[in-house]
Amino acid sequence: MVARVEADFAVIGGGCAGLSLATAIASTAVAGRGAAPRIVIVEPRERYVRDRTWCMWPVEAQPFTAAIRHRWSRWEVRTPERTIIRGSERLPYVHIAADAFYEQALARLRDRGVEIHLGVRATAITDEGDRVTIETSAGPLRARLAFDSRPATAESAESLAKPETGGAVDEVNLLQHFVGWEVKVDGTPFDPSTAILMDFAVPQADGLHFLYVLPFSPDRALVEATYFSESTLPTATYEARIRDYLGRRFAIRDFAIEFRERGVIPMTTAPASPQPSPRVFDIGLRGGLAKPSTGYAFLAIQRYSQEMAARLLRAGDRPPRPPAARPARAVAMDRVFLSYLHRSPERGPDLFADLFERLPPELLVRFLSDRASPRECLRVMSASPLSAMTREVFRSRARWMRPATR
Ligand SMILES: Cc1cc2nc3c(=O)[nH]c(=O)nc-3n(C[C@H](O)[C@H](O)[C@H](O)COP(=O)(O)OP(=O)(O)OC[C@H]3O[C@@H](n4cnc5c(N)ncnc54)[C@H](O)[C@@H]3O)c2cc1C
Repeated sequence: MVARVEADFAVIGGGCAGLSLATAIASTAVAGRGAAPRIVIVEPRERYVRDRTWCMWPVEAQPFTAAIRHRWSRWEVRTPERTIIRGSERLPYVHIAADAFYEQALARLRDRGVEIHLGVRATAITDEGDRVTIETSAGPLRARLAFDSRPATAESAESLAKPETGGAVDEVNLLQHFVGWEVKVDGTPFDPSTAILMDFAVPQADGLHFLYVLPFSPDRALVEATYFSESTLPTATYEARIRDYLGRRFAIRDFAIEFRERGVIPMTTAPASPQPSPRVFDIGLRGGLAKPSTGYAFLAIQRYSQEMAARLLRAGDRPPRPPAARPARAVAMDRVFLSYLHRSPERGPDLFADLFERLPPELLVRFLSDRASPRECLRVMSASPLSAMTREVFRSRARWMRPATR
């Protein structure tokens, strides 16, 4: 029961961003030897289960390394004409299972005395000038500052992608939408040493489309049908694509589905929405932390959480300025890529294949993780259809140089 709880920090939503931020604040306060702040999380789910799969390249230390469950030091990108295999022993592609992440985050939060109210939904958040009141299904919660990670609905993400129903006309608003099945098969068709990041040798009639395969063992893999386009598709379409692919690429007809996931992630060039009010901060996907050209968000969430925790400690009783969602350089590059993909989706497969084929793997991985230097960004441009993409840069004028701060 939340009724009339007073807190220093209220975290609305105990998913990736909420748990990561609460962990970072609690740990930073301990490390800074300050008084432990009172942190309260409200989360509608009753219990935590594996509900998604996070992957990334570990280009920097992050607090949940112990939750990594699999590493692939080779990865494949495929088009109908080319198969490109690249990799790195130093920067493998890594997988964090959601249940391992939740377990670790919850254990740390319990140790630090953070309160989590499960089965509780926030319904309204009001900045009252000197504090924030959060109306919840279990009563009001009052806090000095609030961090809101409630997700946009699939419908609102879709309306963003359609300018005529609300999105800004001069911005690119695509969606990354996907359905994934973890399948267990008889036989050993999968190669667990190589993640298939993008297989574009599949039908492209419904938008830029690829299959993504994470082989965990020779007989078990997560197989996802992914699209970059303006609208989601009926579930049956993604499922048919997965079945077709298993049959054509691996000659698999019979399999057991052991886990399912689906996602809709905005891929937008629009600047992050303004901070709702001085004491309320949007975090996670709601705060624009997904990289627009790839949908990756896990590392950006960890960076934001660490930086916000440090700013809170420095700011004392005052609300801090929020950190930028990502570097201005990365925002600019994403704008170029997204504009190109939007105008020429049929060239998407070759664009990605060229990048993976022509660039040193660790450089490309830094670029995909928003950690490329200016010189490395230029190398990425030079491995791309430069003239067409540069035209996109000039088309979109200087507006995109603004960092995604609020
Ligand atoms: C299936 C899937 C796979 C992904 N894979 C990757 C990946 O491989 N790599 C990567 O970098 N990124 C990935 N992402 C993107 C991103 O990392 C995740 O979406 C991440 O979970 C975003 O964190 P979040 O806290 O913003 O949202 P969530 O983790 O979804 O958390 C939002 C929380 O808000 C809660 N909530 C909802 N309504 C309310 C309410 N009214 N009141 C209070 N709480 C509420 C929800 O229950 C949820 O716990 C993936 C996303 C999805 C959907």
